[in-house]
Amino acid sequence: MESIKKENLDILVLIQSIEKNIQIVETKLRDIPHKIEALDKNLENTRESITEMESGLKNLQKKYRFIDEEVAISRNREIKNKEKLGSVKTNKEYQAVLKEIEDLKKKMSALEDEMLVILEQIEEGEVLIAEKTEESEVLFQKIEQDKKVVAAEFKEEEKKLADLKEKKEKAGKMVDPKLFEKYTWVQNLVGPMAIVTVKKAVCQGCHLNIPHQMYNELQRCDSLRFCPHCQRMIYFDCGSEQGKRSPGFLDDGPEESPNTTGQGAP
Ligand SMILES: [Zn+2]
Repeated sequence: MESIKKENLDILVLIQSIEKNIQIVETKLRDIPHKIEALDKNLENTRESITEMESGLKNLQKKYRFIDEEVAISRNREIKNKEKLGSVKTNKEYQAVLKEIEDLKKKMSALEDEMLVILEQIEEGEVLIAEKTEESEVLFQKIEQDKKVVAAEFKEEEKKLADLKEKKEKAGKMVDPKLFEKYTWVQNLVGPMAIVTVKKAVCQGCHLNIPHQMYNELQRCDSLRFCPHCQRMIYFDCGSEQGKRSPGFLDDGPEESPNTTGQGAP
């Protein structure tokens, strides 16, 4: 049985809490680039929809010009036909030219109606594009601002991370190396929460009951044990339940073939 100082238990708990915070900060740091990506994507989508609308508008303008040319051609033919009327020889010929003039008028009227509809669509499109462009400009300004905030957040989290790592290093130097080695050993076995409290004889790592004898010993607040089920380091938190945590000593380590399932009878 190796004896440990109370401080060692406190430091191990502190190291574990620092590690938990490091994990939280690292997760934040991993998420921040995704935040920026999402902001950029939002702007990109707005700009893409503007480009699509502009291309649609160009097609409408092209169609408008095409119909306009067709109307001009028909108008010329109408003028020529009207000139022709004065020089036709027969009534049949006269009627044919008149019919052609009538058909041209109908055609031009239909084309002009179509042009009016297109013109309306063009005007609507122009208004929409202007609105969307303004919207994207506002969005761009907002995103630039958001990016600055996010970048500042990143910097702050990076600093936090460096501070936490420094704290962990310092704490690691203060703890008994053999105990720290065991802590790391348990961590490799069960994950980040290697040291946990015992409440009402229940290990807070695996939530199984520990033997009564062990619980009684832990309540004396002078020892640190290993949970017989999950192998975590367990202690009774005298700090919160009995006033002050007493100096403890380390129990012998877990057996060579630990039960890693976290299951089993208490
Ligand atoms: Zn346990």
